[in-house]
Amino acid sequence: MDKILVSACLLGAQVRYDGGHCLIEHPTIARWKSEGRLISVCPEVLGGLPTPRPPAEIQSRFPILVSTGDGRDFTPQYLAGAELTADIAREHNCVCALMKARSPSCGNRTTYDGNFSGTEVNAPGVSAHELIRGGIPVFNENEIEELIEFMSSRLADTASPPSAQSDN
Ligand code: SF4
Repeated sequence: MDKILVSACLLGAQVRYDGGHCLIEHPTIARWKSEGRLISVCPEVLGGLPTPRPPAEIQSRFPILVSTGDGRDFTPQYLAGAELTADIAREHNCVCALMKARSPSCGNRTTYDGNFSGTEVNAPGVSAHELIRGGIPVFNENEIEELIEFMSSRLADTASPPSAQSDN
């Protein structure tokens, strides 16, 4: 069965920096959960950060630097979380991931620019980048329909009979 790696906060786990969650309520996600398809991860907790924790943003990518507004360097925890997240995805043969948009760990398309001003840049979070680099497509909570389409196309592929030659 195809598995999907999912940001734990999207499944209701209270692991966000502020101790909250961002549960998404969607019938297909609920069905996948009941089928045991969803593998829940929080890269920041996996990397050793506590909950709640100060918000951090990516300050630089080359070399990578992730820090809080008052300058605390969380880079080692973000890198460790990304490595463990990718390990878990591989271990469970996840075919794709559903990750929280804009997070410095989980954001698949944009993250904040490091100035804590709410300005977004077109670059993924540390863990999402690691997954994408490993060939795992990453969707966010605003792309559920695209994710469903992706999963349906995989199911259609596996359900199709081998192509047969026709004499017509
Ligand atoms: Fe959610 Fe990802 Fe942030 Fe954890 S690191 S709280 S899973 S967005």
